[in-house]
Amino acid sequence: MSSEPQQPHAVLIPQPAQGHVTPMLHLAKVLHARGFYITFVNSEYNHRRLLRSRGPASLDGVAGFRFDAVPDGLPPSDDDDVTQDIAALCLSTTKHSAAPFGELLVRLNGTPGTPPVTCVIADGVMSFAQRVAEEMGVPALVFWTTSACGFMGYLQFAELIKRGYVPLKDASDLTNGYLDTAIDWIPGMEGVRLRDIPSFIRTTDPDDVMLNYDGPEAQNARGARGVILNTYDALEQGVVDALRREFPRVYTVGPLQTFAKTAAGGGDLDAIGGNLWKEDASCLRWLDAQTQPGSVVYVNFGSITVVTPAQLAEFAWGLASCGRPFLWVVRPDLVSGEKAVLPEEFIRVTKDRGVLASWCPQEQVLSHPSVGLFLTHCGWNSTLESVCAGVPMVCWPFFAEQPTNCRYACAKWGIGMEIGNDVTREDVARLVLEAMDGEKGKDMRAKAAAWKEKAVAAAAEGGSSSENLDRLVQFLRAG
Ligand code: UDP
Repeated sequence: MSSEPQQPHAVLIPQPAQGHVTPMLHLAKVLHARGFYITFVNSEYNHRRLLRSRGPASLDGVAGFRFDAVPDGLPPSDDDDVTQDIAALCLSTTKHSAAPFGELLVRLNGTPGTPPVTCVIADGVMSFAQRVAEEMGVPALVFWTTSACGFMGYLQFAELIKRGYVPLKDASDLTNGYLDTAIDWIPGMEGVRLRDIPSFIRTTDPDDVMLNYDGPEAQNARGARGVILNTYDALEQGVVDALRREFPRVYTVGPLQTFAKTAAGGGDLDAIGGNLWKEDASCLRWLDAQTQPGSVVYVNFGSITVVTPAQLAEFAWGLASCGRPFLWVVRPDLVSGEKAVLPEEFIRVTKDRGVLASWCPQEQVLSHPSVGLFLTHCGWNSTLESVCAGVPMVCWPFFAEQPTNCRYACAKWGIGMEIGNDVTREDVARLVLEAMDGEKGKDMRAKAAAWKEKAVAAAAEGGSSSENLDRLVQFLRAG
């Protein structure tokens, strides 16, 4: 007598940071809609934050979609609602989360009514989870939540060190033009310079934590059964082709937010959200009230970027002098080491055309017809969300693979203009006006519309991402 086949059970574990939780959650929703039982594993710290920002009901409202948590190993902090230090988090999760993650897998397999775990999807920078799963006989894939070009950049760290480009000779290499050195041997990444490689190479210390973390983590993906990327082929064709020559299974399944939206279909899955901060939805009403389409500059530097008080003031006065309506999300911890406070005079002169928020529903904001430009730090999720909304960008990359994304947005896709690291109010105003009113802006808008269409096509039936998603699901089901 044949018995019903067991429901597949996927355990997904993102790095405990917003830009990783969000896309991993999209993937979890997509898999749930394809019949998978889901266990989504946050850090205990982020689990508490999610409970606070979204409410407990948002975490247990869907049958067969459960949340769990493992410790991140960091000491408790005074403020338990802030972005944690990424380098500390990398070291500490590697050391302290592996054993609890293994215990969790054992517990799940012994829980009556819960199907046995059939696969693990580990964040690319949490390869300990991949290792733990495989040691227990559970197949593991990695999800690199960066762009393909960012992932390829991290894969080059070892080669850059071997060829003597990195670490830098001394701090003067940051300013003497050395970073403009052409790097012409990375497959699929023609035309990049040293400054376009993920920023962790910008160190003089051979023992630098991040130089020695993300590079080796990228290499660890070679041991995974497959690599998942939240991008679509047409956007990063050269790099994706090059990655496919190096890795047997590369699943480019982006934009995942599109698939997640379809999967949720306005039902219960929609209530599950991954924002660690409470969203201020009133900015959507403010956008509704703007009468001119494409008139608003949306400014948001994501969840990790920090600025100096001087940089904050330059952005403020740049926005003030460009004379455009703006929506600016200023996280409470945006300024390093102190509360982000904007000049009173700036608030007074912009009160009729500017609105501030501490966290917003970004995807909805970007797809709002009033928004015409995104002043962004080029985090991969923000970049892809902007591409999907057809909104051009003014780019101020902060760290990690943001310079790589910025390079692609500006030089390859033609939808971005970069502000130099030493931001001035004049640059902010000039670039915003050029992007909104100038010839360059017109060109960027046309290109952004074309990339948006290609993103839609990739996720439509028969599109590259749609087919890759089918292949991924098939592979995961086969165990
Ligand atoms: N985000 C949001 N509201 C905000 C700021 C950010 O919903 O006010 C979301 C944004 O849509 C994106 C993620 O947080 O999905 C940030 O990820 P990204 O990779 O862009 O940057 P990171 O925060 O990792 O630097």
